[in-house]
Formats: sequence, structure tokens, C-alpha cells
Amino acid sequence: MIPSVLPTYNRTPLTFVKGEGSWLTDASGRRFLDLGAGIAVNALGHAHPALVQALGEQAAQLWHVSNLYEIPQQQALADALVDATFADSVFFTNSGTEAAELAIKMIRRFWHDAGQDRPTILTFEGAFHGRSTGAIAAAGSAKMTDGFGPLMPGFKTLPWGDHDAFEAAMDDSVAAVLIEPIQGEGGIRPLPEACLKGLRAACDKTGALLVLDEVQCGMGRTGRLFAHEWAGIAPDIMMVAKGIGGGFPLGAVLASERAAACMTAGTHGSTYGGNPLACAVGLKVMEIVADPAFLAEVTRKSGLLRQKLEGLVAAHPDAFEAVRGTGLMLGLKCARPNTDLVAAARDAGLLVVPAADNVIRLLPALNIPDADLAEAVSRLDHAAAALETA
Ligand SMILES: *Cc1c(COP(=O)(O)O)cnc(C)c1O
Repeated sequence: MIPSVLPTYNRTPLTFVKGEGSWLTDASGRRFLDLGAGIAVNALGHAHPALVQALGEQAAQLWHVSNLYEIPQQQALADALVDATFADSVFFTNSGTEAAELAIKMIRRFWHDAGQDRPTILTFEGAFHGRSTGAIAAAGSAKMTDGFGPLMPGFKTLPWGDHDAFEAAMDDSVAAVLIEPIQGEGGIRPLPEACLKGLRAACDKTGALLVLDEVQCGMGRTGRLFAHEWAGIAPDIMMVAKGIGGGFPLGAVLASERAAACMTAGTHGSTYGGNPLACAVGLKVMEIVADPAFLAEVTRKSGLLRQKLEGLVAAHPDAFEAVRGTGLMLGLKCARPNTDLVAAARDAGLLVVPAADNVIRLLPALNIPDADLAEAVSRLDHAAAALETA
């Protein structure tokens, strides 16, 4: 008999009942150190007092009015994002997938209005942009697309890191290049800064739009508000979600005036997108995370964690091969099945997230205390040792 919850997930049999900072407590009272943060969502940890207050105050005032009316919280969050980024305009969604959908629509509409036939969006192997019909077509991996055809046309998937393939594909039929500055689900694979600069230059040459998916790597995760800032370039369109809501469902598409101008009244919409609850929380997250002092702390913590992880890899060559990633978006390439390491870590009271390419992801809250980082590495050390003696 099919379970009453559609069984599309292989769930770990753990039930959490409470969260505080980087710690989760399960129904039996056992505490786990959480280095998954709901897959890079709980950017400020669990039950951050300022977020609880922002949500509580808004909940007592007004939950929902629809986008038929002005929403001051939405306006304030859009202004904050425009002030802090390349963007001139923002549309709010409830998820990363919805942000991907709008980004794709914006690309198509842009070229429609420009009167040019540009049918192709270039994407990359290992990409993840969500699970909608458009987003799976963009990712192009059999794991996500099998059995769901016919797929939405107009995407061309290129090998990751293959400059020649990119040069060959980049002609006047290309509408946009869509890429994650650091692949998350794909296994914490950062795009080198020089490549991101190269993509920008190539787009400038043909007029194609550069569209960045910063759903996982954005909102302070790399130590800059958005990952592309490290390369000193700006996209035309950017997708944001996960961390921006700190655990409340919220996503956004940010765009330059040039890219956004095609989206006139009636071209897109969302019932819940940009609702007062989500935007009140998002505004508080922005206030905290966009502070340069906060971002500097992310970079410092990253250095600390990275150094400890290098030691861990050196001490356990049978378990780990290498550390990769930027900021607090780090991956450990595993020398044995990553699922074994995820399970061993869980047994040691530590939650981490598997990714493709046999990697485990460490995506802690951005404000995780140093002591919790040290504890996490100590638990990983126990997990690796337990596997070696098993
Ligand atoms: C998680 C993720 C998405 C999809 O976001 P949802 O909120 O799950 O719809 C899209 N792109 C990237 C890079 C992601 O990590």
C-alpha cells in the first residue's frame, strides 16, 4: 500500500521536535549538532530570537492580502536587496524552483521583446535548479528527467569546466547562460573566479543574459552577500531562495533594469509570493546577514573550519579525499560511499547532507559558534574512526 505521504523521499527515521541555534532535539530527547541547516536554509540557525520576534509580530498583525494591494514589508525587502546588490528590481517567490521558473520566463520574454530569435539557454552538467518541468529541463540530468518527457525545449547542457565546449556553443542563438557559481547538489563544485569573469565577457560579446542561480550559495554563505561578488562581476538576473527566509519559505528573482523591463503588468504573478510574513522575516535576515561585520565573521569561521577539516582529511585518508568549497559552503569528497559517512556522522550526533560526486556537504548556520564548529569536526573524526574499525 502506498504511504499516505507520497514516498518521493528516502527519509531518515528521525523526528525533530525542537531547534535552538545549531542544535536539534529529537522526540527521544537526543541532541544533534546540525551542519545541514535544512539544506542551507536556516542561515541564522534554529529559532533565532530576532526572526522569531519578526515573524511573531507580523503574525499578530496581518498574514496575507495578495499582490492586489501594496505590501510595505515586500517593498522594504526589495529596497534592501536593490541597495545591496547589482539589481534594480525584485520579484518575490516562495521557493527556488519558482525563482527558476521566472528567470526562464524573463529570459524568453526579453528576447521576444527585443525581436530576436534566441531559442537556447546554456546550462551545465551537475546543475540543480529545482524540480519543476522547466527546472528539470534546465538541469538536464537523467536522474531528474527520466519518465517526465517531453521536456521543455530550449536548453543545452554543457560539460562542467569544458571551455572549448562553451566557446563552441556560444553563438547568436544563445539567449542566456544559466549557472550556479558553486554547484550545491552537484557536489560543492565552485566555478573558478576566472571562469565566471569569462562567462560575463562572453555574454557581453553576444548580448546573452548571464543568469546566476544563487539559491544555495547566496545570502552570505560564501562570506560575501552573493557568491559572484568574489569575481567582481554582476549577473543580469539572479535567483535567490533558501537562506533568505531563514527557514520561512521565501525566494526572489533579482534583475537589472535592462533584463527586468520586459516584465510588465500581467506577465507574471504569485498568490503567496512576497507575503507579509515571509518578507518581515526576510527583511530581518537581510538586516543581519548583509552587515559587513557579519560577513567577515562568516569568512573567519570558514577559515577555522577549513583548517580543521584539512587536518581531518589528513588523519583519515580511508574516509576522506579532500575539502572543497567556499565560505560555509564546504564539501568533503569521500573515499568511501558518502551515505556511509552521513550515517556514521548521524550515529555520532552530527547532521550533514550528501551531494553528488560522493561528497558530504557542511552547510552550517552562518552564525554557528566556533565551539560548535570544533565539536562538529570532533564528531566527524569519531564517525570516520568508527567506520575504519567497523
Ligand atoms: C535548492 C535549490 C533550488 C530549488 O529551490 P527550492 O526552494 O527547493 O525550490 C534551485 N537551485 C539551487 C542551486 C538550489 O540549491
